[in-house]
Amino acid sequence: MSTYRAPLDELAFTLEATGELSKVMALPGFEPLDDELVMAILTQAGQFSEELVAPTNFAADRQGSRVEDRQVVTAPALDGVYRAYREGGWPSLTGDPAFGGQGLPHTLGFAVEEIVQSANLSFSLLPLLTQGVVTALSRYGSAQQKDLYLPRLVSGEWAGTMNLTEPHAGSDLGLIKTRAERDGDHYRLSGQKIFITWGDQPYTDNIIHLVLARTPDAPPGVKGISLFIVPKFLVAADGTTGERNDVFPIGVEHKLGIHASPTCTMAYGDSGGAIGYLVGSENEGLKYMFAMMNHARLAVGLQGVAVAERARQHALAYARERLQGSVAGETVAIVRHPDVRRMLLTMEALAQAGRALTLRTMYHFDHALHAAEPEQRKLHQQRVDLLTPLVKGWCTEITNEVASLGVQIHGGMGFVEETGAAQYYRDARILAIYEGTTGIQALDLVGRKLLANRGEYAAALLADLETVVATSRKAGLAALADRLETSLQLCARAVRDVLSRAEDEPDGPAAAACNLLMLLGTAAAGACLMMGANRAAALLAAGEGDGEFCRRKIAVARVFAEQILPRCHAYSEAVLAGSEAIMAVDP
Ligand SMILES: Cc1cc2nc3c(=O)[nH]c(=O)nc-3n(C[C@H](O)[C@H](O)[C@H](O)COP(=O)(O)OP(=O)(O)OC[C@H]3O[C@@H](n4cnc5c(N)ncnc54)[C@H](O)[C@@H]3O)c2cc1C
Repeated sequence: MSTYRAPLDELAFTLEATGELSKVMALPGFEPLDDELVMAILTQAGQFSEELVAPTNFAADRQGSRVEDRQVVTAPALDGVYRAYREGGWPSLTGDPAFGGQGLPHTLGFAVEEIVQSANLSFSLLPLLTQGVVTALSRYGSAQQKDLYLPRLVSGEWAGTMNLTEPHAGSDLGLIKTRAERDGDHYRLSGQKIFITWGDQPYTDNIIHLVLARTPDAPPGVKGISLFIVPKFLVAADGTTGERNDVFPIGVEHKLGIHASPTCTMAYGDSGGAIGYLVGSENEGLKYMFAMMNHARLAVGLQGVAVAERARQHALAYARERLQGSVAGETVAIVRHPDVRRMLLTMEALAQAGRALTLRTMYHFDHALHAAEPEQRKLHQQRVDLLTPLVKGWCTEITNEVASLGVQIHGGMGFVEETGAAQYYRDARILAIYEGTTGIQALDLVGRKLLANRGEYAAALLADLETVVATSRKAGLAALADRLETSLQLCARAVRDVLSRAEDEPDGPAAAACNLLMLLGTAAAGACLMMGANRAAALLAAGEGDGEFCRRKIAVARVFAEQILPRCHAYSEAVLAGSEAIMAVDP
């Protein structure tokens, strides 16, 4: 089994070159952080994850989890890991200082999260969902709810979960049936939720479930959904926990991957009704849940990067050791063969581009929260809105490809479980499904992020990315710049086509949506990767930085430009072809 090494230099470089962390740190509300401190945080996260988290990944997957006596029994390999994570202060890194958080930017927080996710994807889901609950309550909770729940969630003393899905209501949350009936100052909830990640666990003293449910007189569909706080143990006004609430896990799914993450079926109200507290107003629940989902969607995109990175490291270690085939009469390691190098570098280029795209999005995310001028905050929020489906959709689709290449590089040994390559392939598969499938991300992209503003957000993003082309030319990377420019032109043409088709071809935008997402995702990720190559070229020209590292950054960007960007032609052709052939066949 290969050992995971946190890619510290690569993360620090991308944080600066693409995430522009020093600009983020200069925003109002952040204390200036110097490079040394950033590196110290990354190094500690790396050390913690390499030594404590990564070694649990394979064993915990084998052990899985189960429900016994109405509670979840977790994989023994994970014993002590959450406690150490909490004691290290990792849950509160980006939390609001008003509630005990450390107030660091999300751009940096995401770099740290990538490391933890690579180390053990199943484990990393526990803090991820808690973070989502923090986001939703920070925005929409009452002052009293914030005071009661946020300090304990931010510190990681308590965990949070997100309860949307029901057997008959997945992508379409308008179909939700869980009931919430008013009972004095609270509500009583009854119903069943499925697929609830870390729905129960023994690591925290309490679990705060955020639950979507419907009040008796609610209008049908998504307009009748409300959001409730349902604690596992009821909480008194002074924060002490008391009686067990009427919400229990009744089973854990047997899944393709992420076996160590308990995906629970949750029963609400089997004995009289689970006590819940309304967040905000009745029937506004979906809006509130979106606050949580948007952050979670970005974090799931990051999981795509994290699994890709781990699968890449694993495949590279194997390729350096496995002797097969000969060069000049000598048996060589398979890493010498052009086709294996193509696969390894495709993995590396995709992982690096996904990381660059995600950290660039977090740059806008932090600016949308902290920029001094309201107009600036609005513009950055528009970038986040548009980039979110790209990060979620593109980074999770490419991780399936990367993990599959990882198996391929192992040959037959990739198909058996002992080498571990198969686990990344199995784990990766969920990422394009939960938090909204790629199809749902694509509909969000064309519906809310493109048609709703007549392409204004996309035009602004493409204009941003064109400045990268100009910088690449100045940096002496003209051949790469030409390829990027062509890809951006293909994007602009495809966007125009979808907009113009929308009126007289009703199925046009939806039929084109996935290919448009992959087109914009490929081009945007390529441009973000090029930002790194540009910086590497500038450092080399100035005789600064680590020469070998910088040359490698440029080489990987070249692989992306030559081997991956040409896919934009295919995506673009598929968009332009329209919906006729797709809709012609009777379902
Ligand atoms: C391991 C795991 C963990 C999960 N964790 C959580 C959790 O913590 N909390 C939670 O609430 N949920 C959770 N989920 C649920 C997850 O979010 C849903 O599975 C996901 O949103 C898809 O819903 P579905 O499974 O009902 O698929 P469906 O909605 O039935 O979709 C099936 C297919 O139809 C497509 N489709 C559906 N509607 C449309 C449409 N309108 N247009 C085009 N295509 C469409 C989809 O893209 C998909 O390809 C989890 C699921 C899994 C497997």
